[in-house]
Amino acid sequence: MEKIKNILNNKKCLKLILGAGNENLKEILKLVFVYSKAGFNMFDVCAKKEAVDMVKNALKLAEREGLICTSVGLQEDVHVIKALINKQHCIQCGKCIQICPQDAIFMEEEKYIIDERKCIGCLKCKDICQTQAIITEHKYKQPYTMLLPLISEDIDCVEFHCSVDNTENIIDNLNKIKSVYKGIISICLDRSKLGDDTIIKLLKEITSKEAPFSFIIQTDGKPMSGGIDDYNSTLQTVAFAQLINSYNIPSYILLSGGTNSKSTKLAKECNVNINGAAIGSFARQLVREEISRNDFFNNETLINSAVSKAKKLASDLLLYL
Ligand code: SF4
Ligand code: SF4
Repeated sequence: MEKIKNILNNKKCLKLILGAGNENLKEILKLVFVYSKAGFNMFDVCAKKEAVDMVKNALKLAEREGLICTSVGLQEDVHVIKALINKQHCIQCGKCIQICPQDAIFMEEEKYIIDERKCIGCLKCKDICQTQAIITEHKYKQPYTMLLPLISEDIDCVEFHCSVDNTENIIDNLNKIKSVYKGIISICLDRSKLGDDTIIKLLKEITSKEAPFSFIIQTDGKPMSGGIDDYNSTLQTVAFAQLINSYNIPSYILLSGGTNSKSTKLAKECNVNINGAAIGSFARQLVREEISRNDFFNNETLINSAVSKAKKLASDLLLYL
């Protein structure tokens, strides 16, 4: 716990979000390799032993150290949703393929299919599909039961995705997680579902029962993706962090959801106090061209190109932390 608290207290936490639903082990290996070399110091991965092991392998390969955070979520939270295509309704327009940030959709035997291991449940495909051919399903298991096989692993943080509107459900599941995991818990809430008053009441209740700074609040904005590198994408996550600041909630704060290279700059300009930033789809997209190549690890040019893009992102973020 000391390691993670040091990084958070120094306000230098840079977390790479690999995706709570992302089970693509090859992608995890490449992304952690690239971003650990670039200076990111925490890696958030799905709650599967093979995924946690892959993060450790990547850190060893990159000869870097890093904190490991593993993610679990409530059934209604988008992070644990998987998309599927209803073939009866699909007119094969191809729009979903173009928009999917994970390259999870492909054509097989003249039908469009989604690779479940790659899908992170962002639902961009569902939004763009004009025939309602995209349906969703939850691969739901109780958060604490997902955690049980990982408790003996060397994990530094548990991330609890609870972007739902039911505060009793959140508290009940948080208590269950705490009964099996004693370290720092990172909580992801949805301001648009709960409203500011409910969020603050909930956070006051949760934090009052623990020692100060036992939690990280991830201030997920809407949109969740920092797709375009502008201030608009990152505005809501900074506004959420500002709300937590204004009530002096005794928790660490990581900007998350809609984050990009401008996130920490905007927080600084708005005098918002944060302990770091968590970057997901923006960081993954940035190096997609390089890591999608099968010869990535045998091609120094590809590695150098990806690491240099990741380093630029890290330095843009650290400049304002
Ligand atoms: S956007 Fe909808 S209709 Fe078009 S290919 Fe995808 S699933 Fe099929
Ligand atoms: S667009 Fe998002 S939800 Fe749809 S398949 Fe790709 S990752 Fe999954």
